[in-house]
Amino acid sequence: MRLVLLGPPGAGKGTQAVLLSEKLGVPHISTGDLFRANIGEGTPLGVEAKSYIDAGKLVPTDVTARMVKSRLEEADAAEGFLLDGFPRTVEQAEILQDLLAENGQNLDGVLNFVVAEDVVVERMLARGRADDNEETIRTRLGVYRDETAPLIEHYGDQIISIEAEGEVEEINDRAMAALGK
Ligand code: ADP
Repeated sequence: MRLVLLGPPGAGKGTQAVLLSEKLGVPHISTGDLFRANIGEGTPLGVEAKSYIDAGKLVPTDVTARMVKSRLEEADAAEGFLLDGFPRTVEQAEILQDLLAENGQNLDGVLNFVVAEDVVVERMLARGRADDNEETIRTRLGVYRDETAPLIEHYGDQIISIEAEGEVEEINDRAMAALGK
């Protein structure tokens, strides 16, 4: 299964992706995790991405897309994936579409995790990651509204909405049911 996970920052996509990845038998590919691994290892990509991430801004699309392309070329992604954090803009969605089309592939669906804004702010503040301070959170929510939310319309009837407030297991059950599993 080739799925994209969509939702505001702090929606719990990463948590759900870990569970779904196990149940569906496809890798969880998180651009945020890939960036953080690169930052941890001090790679040139990590160095370039860090200033954007710390400011809550999007890393430039050419950098991000190159990273995603090479990850999707790894053997474990040949039969499917859960893409978490990409695409984040309509431009990135078009790039993904082209990458898949080159291999005669298509998305099977786009899971949209729906959570109220005050809930995601609370979750992010509780999580306390390096980029989870109030100012950065505000910036990221603005980026989400302006750049990422339009993807819901862009994907149209490929969107599968999941009500993502409540217990982790409960949300996972809803996602599996929505996928017909
Ligand atoms: P969250 O889901 O809380 O926003 P992520 O781990 O998905 O956290 O992303 C953290 C940061 O990584 C983003 O704020 C952004 O700076 C960068 N990033 C992740 N994915 C992308 C992307 N597709 N395009 C550009 N920047 C990205």
